[in-house]
Amino acid sequence: MVPINRIYYTKPSITELEVSYATDAAQNGWGDQCYAYINQFEELFKQHLGVQYAIATSSCTGALHIGLAALGVGAGDEVIMADTNWIATAAPIVQLGAKPVFVDILPDSWCIDPAFAEAAITPRTKAIIAVHLYGNLCEMEQLLAIGEKYGIPVIEDAAEAIGSVYHGKRAGSMGKFGTFSFHGTKTVTTGEGGLFVTNDPALYEHVLTLSNHGRARGQTKQFWPYMVGFKYKMSNIQAAIGCAQMERIEELTRRKREIFSYYRDCLDHLPGVSINLEPEGIVNGAWMPTVVFATETGITREQLQAAFKAENIDARVFFHPLSSLTMFEEITSNRIAFDIPRRAINLPSYHDLTKAEQDRVIGVIKKLIFC
Ligand SMILES: *Cc1c(COP(=O)(O)O)cnc(C)c1O
Repeated sequence: MVPINRIYYTKPSITELEVSYATDAAQNGWGDQCYAYINQFEELFKQHLGVQYAIATSSCTGALHIGLAALGVGAGDEVIMADTNWIATAAPIVQLGAKPVFVDILPDSWCIDPAFAEAAITPRTKAIIAVHLYGNLCEMEQLLAIGEKYGIPVIEDAAEAIGSVYHGKRAGSMGKFGTFSFHGTKTVTTGEGGLFVTNDPALYEHVLTLSNHGRARGQTKQFWPYMVGFKYKMSNIQAAIGCAQMERIEELTRRKREIFSYYRDCLDHLPGVSINLEPEGIVNGAWMPTVVFATETGITREQLQAAFKAENIDARVFFHPLSSLTMFEEITSNRIAFDIPRRAINLPSYHDLTKAEQDRVIGVIKKLIFC
């Protein structure tokens, strides 16, 4: 018999605070108040991250699109990124007429392998995108050194890394610019939404202008864009929800880490099982607890999916290599990116998940290992 109550893999945490701010924005956030929550949300995020500039956007994809456009990425250019990722990071590169160059990942953090990133650099390389996968952190010191050596900007897609800290620096605050997502599945949500952050004042002004249809800040001439831009702004109502979430950021990330720790304590010592990495000096924001099974266990993605489905648990597959999608050219030499998804699964980790529910998830894995 299938257990009745379904365990979802993510679900936002919405309290009275979010509801009251959203209600206030809907009732009063118009006219000269129409940007009030947006400005406040950007302010709260800047404080949290320790960066100078932030621009709220309609999505992380949009934030990446305008950031890459501002760096001048265009036809014939190349942008290096890990083969293991959600397509959102690759799509803006393609939309700009450039080519995403997919390289292999590290076997333990599942993030871009700096050695392969460096080897992929050509005269056409315009940027390297470091995606902090599932809350795990990229090797930022090495990547930034490579960027410095070749004069190539390193960008951080920190959509999955709110709450992750790399030797005292928050994910998203270290690169030329960083981007975040507030999609309903992410640790902090506004329904849909994103954010662009940077410490570079010129880049900030450029992206701000691009994000508002080419109209510069403080411009007095009406309806007069200076360039063809984009329209990727966040609404004030979404920002109101975001403000409440940012007031609760410590609670939201602490709970994510609590859920992760419990999984880790119960699973990491099992034979052939490994979970997200958290090396010395790193705090993992634990967006997505993910278990990888050693090849020797013989446990496959298909087996995992079937076992979780039978228990009415919504576990998700590890990202397919982007190069395996039909619109790209397959790069099977990205050995690790092709291998790991065959024997891995994402575990449910939403804020209100109970210990009993986590035990149900753990039970599925134990059964597969020991039976
Ligand atoms: C969720 C996600 C995105 C996309 O975010 P949207 O807000 O949906 O555009 C981009 N990159 C990564 C790594 C993500 O996980």
